Amino acid sequence: MSGATRATGRCACGAIRYEVTAPLRDVVNCHCERCRRVTGHFMAAGQVRDDALVVTDPGAVAWWEAAPGVRYGFCPICGSTLFWRAGARGLTSIAAGTLDPPTGLTTTTAWYVADASDYHRLDPGLVQHRHE
Ligand SMILES: [Zn+2]
Ligand SMILES: [Zn+2]
Repeated sequence: MSGATRATGRCACGAIRYEVTAPLRDVVNCHCERCRRVTGHFMAAGQVRDDALVVTDPGAVAWWEAAPGVRYGFCPICGSTLFWRAGARGLTSIAAGTLDPPTGLTTTTAWYVADASDYHRLDPGLVQHRHE
């Protein structure tokens, strides 16, 4: 855990705003094919407990259920990728680029590096996992 105790963020158009009331996990990059396609590059996300995430207008978030229990939350107006949830772990990943800087976070790890596209230059400074 690191980062500020409270953080705020929003989508590009501002229709969805949120506040995080607990420290975020440091940033993990996910290069799996699904995250690559959803984000247009890769998912870079911090993470908090669901109950530490307060979305100003939760009904404004559109969720795409990519697989049973695996959901991506995005803004239906501007298309910003905001959240990711898997199963009943009680955790929400938050797309780090939607946080208002300074985030105080550091990128530590890359998952599914084998799925990164051929144009992508992986950061050798990160702990890399071929899968999660
Ligand atoms: Zn938006
Ligand atoms: Zn992924």
